[in-house]
Amino acid sequence: MTTIILKPHKEESLKRFHPWVFSGAIARIVLDAAHKAAAPEEGELVCVESANGETLGVGHWQVGSIAVRILEFGVAELPADFWEQRVRAAYQVRASLGLVRKDNDTFRLVHGEGDWLPGLIVDVYADTAVVQAHSVGMHVFRAAIAEAIVAVVPQVKNVYYKSDDTLPFKAAIEGEKTGWLVRGSEYSENSEDSEFWSTENGLEFRIDWLKGQKTGFFVDQRENRALVERYAAGKEVLNMFCYTGGFSLYALRGGAKRVDSVDVSQKAIDLVNANVAHNFPKAKNHTAVTADAFEYLTAQKNAGRTFDLIILDPPAFAKHRDAVKNALRGYQRINAKAIEMIRPGGILFTFSCSQAVDKEAFRLAVFSAAASVGRKVRILHQLHQPQDHPINIYHPEGEYLKGLVLYIE
Ligand code: SAH
Repeated sequence: MTTIILKPHKEESLKRFHPWVFSGAIARIVLDAAHKAAAPEEGELVCVESANGETLGVGHWQVGSIAVRILEFGVAELPADFWEQRVRAAYQVRASLGLVRKDNDTFRLVHGEGDWLPGLIVDVYADTAVVQAHSVGMHVFRAAIAEAIVAVVPQVKNVYYKSDDTLPFKAAIEGEKTGWLVRGSEYSENSEDSEFWSTENGLEFRIDWLKGQKTGFFVDQRENRALVERYAAGKEVLNMFCYTGGFSLYALRGGAKRVDSVDVSQKAIDLVNANVAHNFPKAKNHTAVTADAFEYLTAQKNAGRTFDLIILDPPAFAKHRDAVKNALRGYQRINAKAIEMIRPGGILFTFSCSQAVDKEAFRLAVFSAAASVGRKVRILHQLHQPQDHPINIYHPEGEYLKGLVLYIE
């Protein structure tokens, strides 16, 4: 195996289990005999050593500012059943937390660094796991990962790979970035295989991982949706940025008087309508609208409409550090628009999934929004990502979802 030797003192963060080695920390690279090229191949396993020869761990080599993502600390090679061991540990956490049930077969199985598998995301939908690689290393090992998932998770019979949007775009990638890695025999080649149903807390969702966003569904709002259900009885609810209508379905089950779902994507609106029709075939109190959120809120305000409960779950406004300022302005604007339209005594669920915007900055943006429209606001809950999206304490970068539940006078 190729050995990466660090500069003096650059081993400190690895000793604290932070899983990244930055390229600037590397003193030299000792290629193993099998290499013809002058550098390691992207995605291969490398061993990392400190300047004085101490073994620090094994990880995936990558071209870029993060040069190695460590898979195991303190070893010079990985055990033969490494993937199975790691996936089993991740599954056991989900099972022991009560997330794997008959009425809940939707969960995140692997959350990257949060499961000591940097660069890997796996979401499970009923009998199918959808795998996303964010590093070339995970791409290279995708077959072994798929095999481990099927061996470990009893409900999974199929593994779909969906990494066209997540792999580093400059990398020279060999092999397909999307497609079936494992396919259970019960599906015929001609079946409409992008239309599967998956159950979250007893509600059934159509998951379209082929054409849908991310892995097909936002698993990360499960607990927050359940909280909306608790507050929905008798309320007129507006679910902005609804995507598959997760919050809308929980609000309907919670006894909302009326639910309006809004998303700019027609595909999302088709999914919401399909999901509502499937779970509440008799419901007459749900409307889905294809519209831009800002325009929709302005039009509704001009029409004099108000709501008892609004959910704002926009896409990440800041995808990079440099976009944070604009993102905060975006959060402030959209929250001000929503707060204005909430009846006295109403509730706002407001979220940010931008990793680059921390919870203090987000809260400040919401504070500015409240102040700008002159409403008295109290925080009832501070929300975050759920337990199947664990945050590795040594890798705080894994914290991304934050939300506030506000009581608006
Ligand atoms: N709340 C959803 C997830 C939201 S993801 C859930 O629980 O699953 C963000 C959604 O915002 C996407 O579906 C995207 O289509 C939509 N979106 C993006 N820009 C928008 C805009 N300007 N107006 C309305 N919707 C928008």
